[in-house]
Amino acid sequence: MTGKLFIITAASGTGKTSLVKQLLDRTDNLTVSISHTTRSPRPGETDGVHYHFVDKAAFETLIGESAFLEYAQVFDNYYGTSQKAVSDLLTKGVDVILEIDWQGALQVKQKFTDAVMIFILPPSRDALRTRLSGRGQDSQEVIEKRLAGSLTEMRQYDKFDYVVINDDFEIALADLQTIIKSHRLTLNAQSVRNAALIAGLFAD
Ligand code: 5GP
Repeated sequence: MTGKLFIITAASGTGKTSLVKQLLDRTDNLTVSISHTTRSPRPGETDGVHYHFVDKAAFETLIGESAFLEYAQVFDNYYGTSQKAVSDLLTKGVDVILEIDWQGALQVKQKFTDAVMIFILPPSRDALRTRLSGRGQDSQEVIEKRLAGSLTEMRQYDKFDYVVINDDFEIALADLQTIIKSHRLTLNAQSVRNAALIAGLFAD
């Protein structure tokens, strides 16, 4: 059985990364694809764990080799998802989360039409501003740019299949778990996962 692709998109400062981390801790057979980016690592970020950090020339070489399932420019940097890494995981039957921006999400949906698209929204604009400022890792200029970018990003929510509001962290997390679980319970998924059980039920 091949894995399922879940795309999770949110404006910067919505708490998406913390939600995805907890989701992975609490869900079996689920992983997140590690993207390539040309942005510099933030304090505490490790190459190969949070991102594959590469320079622009290396990224452009990968574009030329068609190595990306999708890529986009976000806040002056390139971000992209490795085609091979994702298809290797899906072939192994692992469900994969792509934590990517809306431009990448729409590119992926064109190639994987049954990918499940989830948009996470903040509870208010004020909450978003507070969270962006509270991170304390970026300059004011970067924060203002991100706020403007966040609005552009959030306007794309209506192109997604599911909308989760991250007001209460545990509720948002439970919402994400529910979405994943419901997709594991569809007739298609169950017919494959429980083929032997179902065959046994109807054997003469
Ligand atoms: P950050 O620099 O804060 O880690 O990420 C900035 C934005 O880039 C976020 O919206 C994040 O989801 C998005 N992003 C991260 N990886 C990828 C990727 O591989 N492809 C695309 N299209 N966006 C990505």
